[in-house]
Amino acid sequence: MHQSKRSLVLVTVDCLRADHCGFYGYSRPTTPFLDALASESFVVPAAIVAGAPTYYSFPAILASRMPLALGRDVIGLAPGESTLATVLRESGYATGAFSAGNPYISPRFGYDQGFEVFRDFLDFEAHTTRNTVGPETPPGDSARGQLNRSIKSFAGALGLSRLYNELYFQYCMKIAPAAGSVDALRKFPSAEILVNQAQSWLASVGQRPFFLWLHLMDPHSPYYPPNEAYRELAGRDIEPGRARYVNEYWNRSDLTASALSGKRNEVVRLYDAGVRWVDRQIAYLVDSLRQSRLWDDCVFALTADHGEEFLEHGGRYHSPVRLSEEIVRVPLVIRVPGERGVKVPASPMSHLHLAPTLLEIMGEQAPSDFQGRSLWTNLQKGIAWDDPAIGPAIIECAYGCTNPFRAESRGASRLLAVRDARFKLVMRIEPGATEEVYDLEADPAEMGPSTDGPALATRKRLLHAAREHVEKTVSARDPVMRLRARLRDLRCEMFG
Ligand SMILES: [Zn+2]
Repeated sequence: MHQSKRSLVLVTVDCLRADHCGFYGYSRPTTPFLDALASESFVVPAAIVAGAPTYYSFPAILASRMPLALGRDVIGLAPGESTLATVLRESGYATGAFSAGNPYISPRFGYDQGFEVFRDFLDFEAHTTRNTVGPETPPGDSARGQLNRSIKSFAGALGLSRLYNELYFQYCMKIAPAAGSVDALRKFPSAEILVNQAQSWLASVGQRPFFLWLHLMDPHSPYYPPNEAYRELAGRDIEPGRARYVNEYWNRSDLTASALSGKRNEVVRLYDAGVRWVDRQIAYLVDSLRQSRLWDDCVFALTADHGEEFLEHGGRYHSPVRLSEEIVRVPLVIRVPGERGVKVPASPMSHLHLAPTLLEIMGEQAPSDFQGRSLWTNLQKGIAWDDPAIGPAIIECAYGCTNPFRAESRGASRLLAVRDARFKLVMRIEPGATEEVYDLEADPAEMGPSTDGPALATRKRLLHAAREHVEKTVSARDPVMRLRARLRDLRCEMFG
């Protein structure tokens, strides 16, 4: 019976913006393999995360649940919550996850549920000297941060910021590995390591259908891509000292956006090379699936947990202080054997609907606690989803929560966006808050909120959706799930 089932590969790439992928029109050849795959797949033009960053995005991807639905103080999945993995495991699939060292999607937050094999590579950090709290930690507490500050105060006292930059550049050049490699600077395991482990695991599952989840961190900061990928994009090798200097400069909290902007192109090139490396490793994985004759029965989906900012709105990285398109719009490619992808409608597709859609493609029943709905028929037939039951895409996070290990950081007010095909409403849910509405058609770069007449009716409609969402968060909260998650957190806080 199992032989007739398809398998599922889900690849999530941390920080991958849709508009830096070739199949969404990017000018650099970051994704040649995925471009070819996309041409025979369903490519969702407007896939929208349910929250950002990582810890506010994944509950929707794996469990079809809004990130704050169990309360703002709950991060991650609740013990016993249904996910893609639990459903498929119960249905007889071999389930394996390989995640490149992101602490927010570890067993601590319930992400190993449903997986027979779960490798999170958190021990990888032991090999490095980078700060170990987590990828979304604000910069500045490392020993290097202290040195940075002392050089700066010395140079600043003399009013010599150029001297400071020069000293800092020399310092980076000196401590960079003499071997001419950036590999030692990398904070997360490369996609290559994960793909190799996944292949070993696949070889062990025999004839069972499988669910493989890969979470790749290559485009995540600090931006130290493998040199091979960089060379393919830039036509020359990375200078490790320079790469280090650019990364450290980009990380400085004391500089204005205009001071940082001089390094923007270099930073983006390093980021793009990380994407290029992901593409190459996915090609390698798919090639091995083809060779072992598994690819013909394999559903493949690729998406990202959020995008990345490069000063478009003054910010860097992906802090939950803005929900602009470079953060919330991610790639979503779904390849289904025997189906040639048709043109997918431009309606925004929330990640909330991804897991139920994938389960329908797999011929499996979605559990009743999933909040999203399968859009498989719509994708298959190219029919727009304007059903009010589906509604606009909603994105939410606790404003400014860059370290969810800290309870007070989690408790910040909710930042909410409601995005339909053309407009986006953004607001903080707190007393006296005002909303902003952006017209993504007239102003795709979100340079300023829209104030004209037609926007007023739209404003009302989107505000109504926001209100309904917030009310539902409270009225539909699952008290048992919430309690389980709180107990898990208390145990972790007490026993580490
Ligand atoms: Zn992330």
